[in-house]
Amino acid sequence: MSRATKIVATLGPASSTPEVLEAMIRAGVDVVRLNFSHGKAQDHIDRARLVREAAQRVGKEVALMADLQGPKIRVGKFADGKVMLENGARFVLDADRTELGDVGAVGLDYKELPRDVKPGDTLLLNDGLIVLTVEAVRGAAVHTVVKIGGELSNNKGINKQGGGLTAPALTGKDMEDIKTAMSFQCEYLAVSFPKSATDMELARQLANVAGEPYRHKPGLIAKIERSEAIPQLEAILKASDGIMVARGDLAVEVGNAAVPALQKRMIKMAAEMDKLTITATQMMESMIVNPVPTRAEVSDVANAVLDGTDAVMLSAETAAGKYPVETIEQMAAIALEAERAEYVSIETDFADRRFARIDQSIAMGALFTAHHLGCKAILALTESGSTALWMSRHRIHVPIYALTTQLVSQRKMGLYRNVTPLLMPRMDDRDTALLAAEKLLVEQGVLMPGDTYAITCGEPMGYPGGTNMLKVCRVA
Ligand code: PGA
Ligand code: MN
Repeated sequence: MSRATKIVATLGPASSTPEVLEAMIRAGVDVVRLNFSHGKAQDHIDRARLVREAAQRVGKEVALMADLQGPKIRVGKFADGKVMLENGARFVLDADRTELGDVGAVGLDYKELPRDVKPGDTLLLNDGLIVLTVEAVRGAAVHTVVKIGGELSNNKGINKQGGGLTAPALTGKDMEDIKTAMSFQCEYLAVSFPKSATDMELARQLANVAGEPYRHKPGLIAKIERSEAIPQLEAILKASDGIMVARGDLAVEVGNAAVPALQKRMIKMAAEMDKLTITATQMMESMIVNPVPTRAEVSDVANAVLDGTDAVMLSAETAAGKYPVETIEQMAAIALEAERAEYVSIETDFADRRFARIDQSIAMGALFTAHHLGCKAILALTESGSTALWMSRHRIHVPIYALTTQLVSQRKMGLYRNVTPLLMPRMDDRDTALLAAEKLLVEQGVLMPGDTYAITCGEPMGYPGGTNMLKVCRVA
């Protein structure tokens, strides 16, 4: 059995050499995340090229995901780089302050903060490690009392408990970054802090316009990390290709304890709506410094797999950690073991589902047949990848091999759970294509003489959305 759950790894200083990147891809990375919160446009362009080159050397396609910074609200810089905030001390967040910060006050890049908060509000800094209570707002200065102190360094993030910050999801910087990301045709674009479907629609428009010269349209991932996004989940999902359970900011906004249940709800809802999910943040956090994960981290990764996530994500572990390759190896092993132990069945409500599309009902027919007959594999000849997407929204232990003539579809499908995308030359004759597909899977060592498999395709060949037939075959 090969691993069904995919791994997203973030690039950073610890993982930007050709050797490390190559080792990471060999260890199991399926999607590489470029974090636009750090670095300049050229850094991302260079890294994207390094990834494509490393992938080519390994002989495995990986998808690139450009993750926009969004309106992350941050404190300014300190004269000494950092300060120590003591419990009970007073601390001012001052949007007008131009000089560097000290133990009493610091500047802000987000000038609206004083308008978004009122006395009694709780502000969380540095992912919730520091807690401030707002006492008063005077002009551009937010006066606070330190409830939980600690070390605060340059440019740390600020969240407001319960949400309510008015910053729009796409900043001027994000709009420029979208152009950069489209210049190297990233397969996925992740939008930070969307509050509504409108934020995602705007991002899609901008990405499609910027992608136009390359005839490229990326998949859109909404990072769910704001309180306001929760009631809008269904609409946001509809406007996106997938979501990220962005537990870092989300936990600060909705409270730590609410996150595990939300994770389960989001993954389930996304699958029902034929959308993708990435579970992110602190999954293997201790491996930033240690060669082995904690027991809790092992369970967290396994549980995300059992929740049905398409992918598990690594952030600082691979961007700035000491053991990027080992982290991926361990994550891959945990995911595989969890999948093996997972009991799967086609959902009971499946029998009553109705489909308006021919291609979708063929996809579901293949899934049903392969699962009940105990096929060795499902082969889907797909241009856009949608047949493979529909099939992969249901949990079965039959691996799906998606054969496409489109390189972009191949890379995009790298994120789909239980889908192994393969590139295949274009063929106009159906029977030639079916035989070529079988031959490819035999060469890959997936199929052997005597094995049965289900295969779907469209006739005539080569039209997106054209899947209209299912064949069940036995390898001669
Ligand atoms: P970030 O997003 O790492 O870009 O902040 C993920 C999260 O908030 O969990
Ligand atoms: Mn975040």
